[in-house]
This record gives sequence, C-alpha cells and structure tokens, in this order.
Amino acid sequence: MAKIKFKDRMRVLFVSSEVAPFAKAGGLADVVGSLPKKLATDYGLDIRIMMPRYRFIKVEDYQAELIIKDIKIKLPNKRPTKVNVYKTFIPETIIPVYMLDMPPYFVGEDVYDHGVQGREPCVPFINFSKVALEIIKAMDWQPEIIHIHDWMPAIIPKWLRTIYKNSIFFKNTSTVLTIHNIAFQGKMEFNEAKFLGLKRRELVQPFYMNGNKEINVLGEGILNADVVNTVSPKYSQEVLTKRYGSGLEKLLVSRKKSFTGILNGIDYSNFDPRHNQDTPVKYWIDSLDKKVENKLYLQKKLGLTESAELPLICVISRLTEQKGLDLMEDVLKDLVDMGAQFIILGSGTDSVEKIFIKAERNYPKAVAAEMKFDANFAQTVYAGADMILVPSRFEPCGLSQIIGMRFGTIPIVRKTGGLADTVRDGYTGFVFRHYDKHAFLWAIQRAVDIYYNQKDFWRKMQIRAMRKDFSWKGSAKKYIWLYRKAIRHHKEELKSQNSKGG
Ligand code: ADP
Repeated sequence: MAKIKFKDRMRVLFVSSEVAPFAKAGGLADVVGSLPKKLATDYGLDIRIMMPRYRFIKVEDYQAELIIKDIKIKLPNKRPTKVNVYKTFIPETIIPVYMLDMPPYFVGEDVYDHGVQGREPCVPFINFSKVALEIIKAMDWQPEIIHIHDWMPAIIPKWLRTIYKNSIFFKNTSTVLTIHNIAFQGKMEFNEAKFLGLKRRELVQPFYMNGNKEINVLGEGILNADVVNTVSPKYSQEVLTKRYGSGLEKLLVSRKKSFTGILNGIDYSNFDPRHNQDTPVKYWIDSLDKKVENKLYLQKKLGLTESAELPLICVISRLTEQKGLDLMEDVLKDLVDMGAQFIILGSGTDSVEKIFIKAERNYPKAVAAEMKFDANFAQTVYAGADMILVPSRFEPCGLSQIIGMRFGTIPIVRKTGGLADTVRDGYTGFVFRHYDKHAFLWAIQRAVDIYYNQKDFWRKMQIRAMRKDFSWKGSAKKYIWLYRKAIRHHKEELKSQNSKGG
C-alpha cells in the first residue's frame, strides 16, 4: 500500500457507549474496540474514540491520564456542567480513547444503569453526545467523519443540521450511523424535546414511525446521518420489514439509497485458542485432540459429570427475549435426556435467571447455570464446549457464533440476520429456520447425532469452522467505502444548500 502522508489521513471520531475492554454489555463493545485497529493499521486512518467515563471504570487499571479538569460545558438544555476528560488507548495501539467524566451522570453499576427503572437512560446519553462534540472542538481536532454507534449518540447528525448548522468547525464533518440493534431506540416523550435543545416540530414526524407520538433518538439519527448501516447484510434487509423494523422500517425505507449492511468482524488476537489467556490448554487445528482437556477442566470446575464423551453444549448470552430464551428453556430436559451437558453463562433479569438456576438444581451433574457477565470465563467456556446455541428471534450480527467457530465449538443457530450470513448448515454448523421448539430440537439432535456417531465428519466441521475468516479484513474495507460515500453525500448536500442560498 502506498504510504499515506500524515496530514492526509482521514480523521474519524468514534462516539460510543461501549468500548472493549473498558465497558462492555455486548457485541457493540467488541466492534468499537476492534474495528478502529484495523482501520488505523491497514488504512492509516487517524481515529479517536469518545465514550462516557462510567464510575465503575477504574481509570488507573488503564493508566488513563486526566487531561482536562473541570471544563464547563453547556448541556443542550442550556445548563452548564463540569466535565473531566481521561485519556487512555485501545490496548497495544496508539488509538486514543477519551473517557468523559460528567457526574452526576454514569454513576450506576453497569453501562445502562442510569435512568428511571424501565426506561432507556436517554438524558445521560444525550448530554454525553453534546459533551463529546464540545470536547472535540476544545481539542481543535476536526473530524471528517463522526461514526455513531446505536441510539445513544444518534442525536449528533440532527444537531449538525440544526444547533451546529453555522459552525465552521463542523462544516466539513459527515456522519455515519451504525445500527447494532434496532430494538433499542432511545424513546422519549414529546415534552422532553427541551433535553435535546430542539423544538418538538423539528423532530421526526409520527407518520414515519407508525403514528407513534414520541421522540425517537435513533429515528433522528436514521433521518439525518449521511449514511446508515447495520451489522450484517441479511439484517439490513430484514429491518426494512414490519416484522423486524421495530417501527422504524418506513424511515429506513426512506433512506434506502444511503443504507447498507456490513458484517461485523472480530479481533482474532483476542479470540483464538492458540493464545487465548483464558483457554487452559491451548490448541489449534493440528492439535484439536487437546480441546477435550478444556472440556474436562470446565466439567470439573462446574461440578458436572467428568467425561470426554458427553457432548457439552453452551450458551453465552445476554438473557433477553431477543436471544430465544423461551426456546432454550423448552429444550433443556430434552438435552439432558440425550445425554448432553449444558452450560449457560448469561445475565439478565432475576425471573429469567431463575429458570436456569432451577434447571441446575434439577440436574446438578448435567446443567450449570453461571448467571453473570464474565468476559474471561466466557473464553474458557468457548474453549471447552462442543457446541454453542444461538436460537435468536432476531440477530443483527451475533458474535458468539463467530467466536465459537474459531474455537471449533460448533454453532447451532436460527436462520436470521448475521447468523444466517455466517453459519452454513451441515458445513460449519447447524441452522434451523422456524422459531419453534421442534425445529430447534431437530437441529440439536442432528448435531448430537453426528457428534456421537460420525466423529470424522464432526472433526471436518470443526476444522472448516476454525478456518473461516471473520476478521475485519474484508469489512474494514467496506467501512472505508462507506466513509467515502458519507463524505460525498455531505458535499453534495452542502453544494445544493449553497446553490439554493445563492
Ligand atoms: P449482543 O451484542 O446482542 O449481546 P453478540 O453476540 O453480538 O450479542 O455479542 C455478545 C458478546 O458478549 C460476545 O463477545 C459474547 O462472548 C459476550 N457475552 C455475552 N454474554 C456474556 C456473559 N454473560 N459473560 C461474558 N461475555 C458475554
């Protein structure tokens, strides 16, 4: 690749509520923690990342340095607030991560624990979005692209067209909105428009949202970003329909020309059984026999029957309706009857967790319910399990099946979104179509049958799955294309505004 001159590097500001390894609730963190590495190393992009400084982040663990103290910033509702900025880096890179410390916001115990019970924490993230723009201005670092992730910072494109319309600083800034999950939208009452610093009539009209009379932060992003994408090609088609669009399908259809799907990649420097720190016995394709030692380790640790022969099936997931929990509950007994073992590593609401805790009590030697979020232990489970279940109702991309494949842990998935794009039935995993117990069970039975009776074929599937390359190589290139498209879109818009003005 030709060397890119320092001054010519494309400047991209990532704004996100999650960034691995600092704050993670799901796949969003993995994406924002890994895509910038590829963009910076292979394409020479100049990237900076902004995220909230959650109180639970121990800044000293990341050698984060306090670079701005008590800067006064006006929130969208015109009230001033004091902000501190900590600077650290994505591990093993020189990509800066700015953590915006803005008490009294983000003092909860996890990433999204900052609002009134049962409602999305809109105001904290709206204020974070405003602070992010003001801090980047204070740093005098003009982004050519602001890459926005999910609803939390999705008001930014709207602001660039309204309250920052005459800002010379942001004049040449284009916006890219990536939707990691359309089910989360940032919904507010109309009378809360003041928190956005906007008038109610300036916001997306209810017609576009199936008549819903509310503010929809993601909807504002969809309408105003220069380009929009989701995290797999299949999901980008699905969300244009009523069934998957969660009420925003009309809005997306109206942006169809600027809307696309780019499959997530993963960072194999973390997720690889050859050198993963939490894999007790390292292995690869040429030493696959060693994988079983990780299974024996897990069985012992979790008090399951210790046996190399029994298939060990896992789930590593947020425990929400999206993830097909009811189906998992339905098949538990059948799994045990097949002689399989089941480990679930997940966290969700108490009522959901109880289902699995009860199963563990009923089948202590066959079921282990680890009701927690533990990124390290997750790797140990990927390494030790034989199969991973992902029976989602919908799945924007899904990373656990991709990680599973790299560990030779065969995925059993529903044919939806990114699951459909990444797993090939009978080749790298097992795929079922209809969301019902029988279809799911049939897929599991096929897998268990091959596991028990066709060992060579099973081994071949594992090798194929491990060889699949879901690194950022291909997808990072597509993001470059998308950034260029956003810049073109923005320029055309500026041109048409100027010609109207003149
Ligand atoms: P989503 O973003 O919808 O939660 P993904 O499959 O895209 O789902 O990403 C989930 C990520 O979070 C994966 O890296 C997975 O390993 C991890 N993960 C999910 N649940 C847990 C858990 N309980 N403990 C540790 N890691 C988890």
